[in-house]
Amino acid sequence: MSGQDNKVTRRTLLRGAIGSAAAVGLAGIGTRTAWGNELLSEDDPMAKALAYYADAAKVDKAAHANYKPEQNCANCMHYTGAADAETGGCNLFPGKSVAAKGWCKVWVAKP
Ligand code: SF4
Repeated sequence: MSGQDNKVTRRTLLRGAIGSAAAVGLAGIGTRTAWGNELLSEDDPMAKALAYYADAAKVDKAAHANYKPEQNCANCMHYTGAADAETGGCNLFPGKSVAAKGWCKVWVAKP
């Protein structure tokens, strides 16, 4: 085997390693937002405790009499996402993102 054959072999291995790393990285994209926070699931224990709904239109109005149709995460004081974003941070769920159209029972109007 010549030295050049050896280089080609290393290059081929390196390409394979980069491709594998990219595939592993892409596998986790489904549950993460553009800036890397995991999207809060309604099944998360803390989300359940606060009656988080990813879509405020689906709030059980009988169970949450304080809910008003105009309330959602995007206009909540605890929401830290950009005004036009579909998801953003919430002070009550560090490291996670909530849906801008979501809601939970500790909603407080933005000042
Ligand atoms: S505290 Fe506000 S921003 Fe956070 S999940 Fe509840 S309603 Fe949404």
